[in-house]
Amino acid sequence: MDSESLIRVAGWLRNARQAVALTGAGISTESGIPDFRGPDGVWTRDPKAEALSDIRHYVSDQELRKRAWQGRLNHPARGAEPNAGHRALAELERQGRLQALVTQNIDGLHLAAGSSPERTIEIHGTMRDYVCLDCGSRGPMSAALSRVRAGEEDPACTDCGGILKSATISFGQSLVPADLARAEEAAANSDLFLAIGTSLTVYPVGWLPERALASGGRLVIINAQPTPLDGRAHAVLRGRIGDILPALLARLSSLPS
Ligand code: NAD
Ligand code: ZN
Repeated sequence: MDSESLIRVAGWLRNARQAVALTGAGISTESGIPDFRGPDGVWTRDPKAEALSDIRHYVSDQELRKRAWQGRLNHPARGAEPNAGHRALAELERQGRLQALVTQNIDGLHLAAGSSPERTIEIHGTMRDYVCLDCGSRGPMSAALSRVRAGEEDPACTDCGGILKSATISFGQSLVPADLARAEEAAANSDLFLAIGTSLTVYPVGWLPERALASGGRLVIINAQPTPLDGRAHAVLRGRIGDILPALLARLSSLPS
């Protein structure tokens, strides 16, 4: 991580009117949750695993659902704790320097770290809840997992008998329109957009940085590997998020106010 860029970005953060962060799976790898496309990513190791995230397969294939429920029982995010990166973003918000946090992550770790539900948009949903694909009935994931542990391999909705799934957005499912609208508005109004731990290859979220650029905002990319938007970013901070974000906060607090 080069300290010149760090100082520059800290200065932008200090002067930003509307700073917005977008996070991806990369901010949670230091909490022990693998990403999809990093070197140890779930899909890098097993390209076939991508099909498991497709809603069409989930709905049509009960064997796949049974595997999905076993996967939820043993998911690395269960019991995971927020790390220094999540905590730094919560602290930025507490200081009034972060107006919105859009996360692609479903692990709930930003909220666990203290980011507020009012400013956090979990654009791909949350694995902390389950939802019925037929009637929309919703409840805590722990309740559904208890049923799986008690022997129901593919627990059905207790209201309508429909198919239950974690309250996350799979491939083939639309985003929640209100969430997408909030995220797009935040990006379009931002003068500083931080893309953190995301390969920026999942859409429409991957287009949010361009929204910010189109309205004249600055783009900062914080990621271990290159992304398709590096060439258009005003700064790219390469390295571990758990090192970079706390270092950025430290720089920020050392700047004259
Ligand atoms: P991705 O897997 O496509 O990319 C993650 C990026 O983070 C990679 O470029 C990698 O180099 C970088 N990275 C990983 N660890 C890092 C670290 N410690 N420091 C700096 N950079 C690091 O992730 P994506 O863009 O978020 O897309 C994956 C999709 O899968 C998302 O839509 C998300 O919903 C879902 N997902 C979520 C979780 C989670 O909730 N924690 C985990 C895996 C996947
Ligand atoms: Zn139902």
